[in-house]
Amino acid sequence: MSPRRFGGGKLVIASHNQGKVREIGDLLAPFGADVVSAATLGLPEPEETGATFIANAELKARAAATASGLPALADDSGLAVTALGGAPGIFSARWAGPDKDFVAAMARIHAELGAALDRSARFVCVLSLAWPDGHCDSFEGTVAGEIVWPPQGDQGFGYDPIFRPTGGSQTFAEIEPAAKHAISHRADAFRQLVAACFSPG
Ligand code: IMP
Repeated sequence: MSPRRFGGGKLVIASHNQGKVREIGDLLAPFGADVVSAATLGLPEPEETGATFIANAELKARAAATASGLPALADDSGLAVTALGGAPGIFSARWAGPDKDFVAAMARIHAELGAALDRSARFVCVLSLAWPDGHCDSFEGTVAGEIVWPPQGDQGFGYDPIFRPTGGSQTFAEIEPAAKHAISHRADAFRQLVAACFSPG
């Protein structure tokens, strides 16, 4: 089925993170999207019970679209380390625990990698745009790199200090935010979403 185009009007961002909602609103404003957050509408946050990034992004987008009667956009993202079989993957946020302790989560990756020769990893971001009738389009963005130790840099968030993108000499936490945003998994997914569902024509 071909992707469904968004023709303007209200768009629910299925996230309770106001920073994310503002950032997505700015990105999509040129396409006539009037964004409103799931929190503002008082929509419940569904449990992320899916086994994949796509399943989780789609279940969040579908729940918001069904409950609001409006198109809804959701994302799911994380870090997949090859030698750990793709972990932490969809559990990236959960590895940091309720205190969002990413120092501990990064140390766990380092410990589980041990002396593994393969240090490759990738960040993944899936964006799903769902409609009240159940139609849903999903786009997966990635950026490849490797895990470095010790953590380096203090910009960014989450696992940025231990992720060095392929071809670069610095981690995501050492480079300027604008440079990260140009090459990130989120930017990749957004480019695909905009090309398929938001650009005119
Ligand atoms: P989500 O907000 O449920 O998609 O959780 C994504 C989790 O993946 C975050 O809590 C971070 O741990 C991790 N993550 C996703 N994107 C990035 C990134 O760009 N840099 C660092 N960590 C990220």
